[in-house]
Amino acid sequence: MTKYLIVGAGLFGATFAYEAAKKGHEVKVIERRNHIAGNIFTKEVDGIQVHQYGAHIFHTSNKKVWDYVNQFADFNRYTNSPVANYHGEIYNLPFNMNTFNKLWGVVTPEEAQAKIDEQKSVLNGKRPENLEEQAISLVGTDIYEKLIKGYTEKQWGHSTKDLPAFIIRRLPVRLTYDNNYFNDDYQGIPVGGYTQIVEKMLDSDLITVETGVDFFEKKAEYLKEFDKVIFTGMIDEYFDYSLGELEYRSLKFETEELDVNNYQGNAVVNYTDAETPFTRIIEHKHFEFGKGDKNKTIVTREYPKTWKRGDEPYYPVNNTKNNTLYKQYKELADKEAKNVLFGGRLGQYRYYDMDQVISAALNVVKAEVED
Ligand code: FAD
Ligand code: UDP
Repeated sequence: MTKYLIVGAGLFGATFAYEAAKKGHEVKVIERRNHIAGNIFTKEVDGIQVHQYGAHIFHTSNKKVWDYVNQFADFNRYTNSPVANYHGEIYNLPFNMNTFNKLWGVVTPEEAQAKIDEQKSVLNGKRPENLEEQAISLVGTDIYEKLIKGYTEKQWGHSTKDLPAFIIRRLPVRLTYDNNYFNDDYQGIPVGGYTQIVEKMLDSDLITVETGVDFFEKKAEYLKEFDKVIFTGMIDEYFDYSLGELEYRSLKFETEELDVNNYQGNAVVNYTDAETPFTRIIEHKHFEFGKGDKNKTIVTREYPKTWKRGDEPYYPVNNTKNNTLYKQYKELADKEAKNVLFGGRLGQYRYYDMDQVISAALNVVKAEVED
C-alpha cells in the first residue's frame, strides 16, 4: 500500500484519489481553497446551479471518459450555442452559415466559401503562423475584426499576432446552419451541478480531505511523510519560481442576482468588441431549462486580467516562450522531485478541458498506481 498526498481537490486530484483508493491505497487530499472541486465548483442558489468559476460545459468524443463521468452524475441535453454581441449586433457562434448569412447575406455554402476565400487572399497563400493569420485564413477579415480580435486580445492580454494559432482552432468553422459550439459526440451539464461529481469521487474510507490548507505551509514535512505526492497546483510555484515565472491569465467574476426571469435569452453571450471590459456574461438558469425562481435570475460577468502572485491562475498562456520555460521546469521536476507527479491544468501547464483532465489522470493512475 502506498500513502499518497494529493495537492488540489480539482478534477485531476479527485480522479486520481478515487482510482487510488479503489486499488486500496490511502489518500490524503489537501486543498488551498475553502471548498473542493477546483474550477468546476458549482453551488445552488435559488434552485439554480451557479458555475462559480465560469461556464463549464462537459463535452467529449472519448466514450470511455463519457461513461466514466456518467458514473457520478446524470447529464442533461444542454448544447452550447453562445451568441456574440458586437456593439449590439448579434451573431451566432461558432462560425457557421447563420453567422455568414447575418454578416454577408450569403445563403449557400458555396457563396460563404467564396467570401472567405476572397478575404483570406490578404495572406497571399502564407501558412498561418499566429492566431491573427490563422483566424483570417479560417473565416476571413470581417469575422476576424468583429468577432475574434477584440475578444481574443481582452482574453489573453496579448496581440493576436503574438498568440499561438491553436487557440482559435479550438472553435469549429462550419458551412452548415449548426450553432453547436462543439464537434464532440457527447455533451451536457450534470443535473445537480459539478460539485457532486468530486464529492462522490472523494467519498471513501481511504480518503481524507482537508480544505483551506496550503501545501507550501508544510512542504518539507509533507514530502517526508508521504510516499508519493500528486501536485495539481502551479509547477513554477512548486519550485519557488526558481527558473522564472510562467505566465497565467486570471479572471475576475462579478455575479449578481436580478429581479427578472430572463435577462439575456441565452446561457452564454460573448462581448467581442475591444471596448466592453468583460468577455462574456453567463446566465446560469439557461444551463438547466426552466429551473429556478421565475422572478429571479443570476448572471456572471467575466473580466480577464493579468495574473500576479496571489491571484487565481485560470489559464496557462501556451506561447513559445512559456512552453519553453515549462519544459525547463519539467526537466527540473524529473531530476529533483522524483516522488512528485505533476498533473492537471496547472501542474502540466496545458489548456486542458475537463475530459482531457480525466483522461490524463486515468493514464497516470494506470502507469503509476499498483493494483
Ligand atoms: P483545478 O480545478 O484548478 O484544481 C487544482 C486545485 O489545486 C485548485 O482547487 C487549487 O486551489 C488547488 N491548489 C493549487 N495550489 C495548491 C496548494 N499549494 N495547496 C493546496 N491546494 C492547491 N473545461 C471544459 O471541459 N468545458 C468548459 O466549458 C470549460 N470552461 C472553463 C471556463 C473557465 C473560465 C475556466 C477557467 C476553465 C474552463 N474549463 C472548461 C477547464 C476546466 O476548468 C479544467 O479542465 C479543470 O477544472 C482542471 O482541473 P484541474 O484539477 O487540473 O485544476
Ligand atoms: N474566441 C473569439 N471569439 C469568441 C469566442 C472565442 O475570438 O467569441 C477565441 C478566443 O481567442 C478564445 C478562443 O477562441 O480564447 C477559444 O475559445 P473558447 O470558447 O474555447 O475559450 P474558453 O472557453 O477556453 O475561454
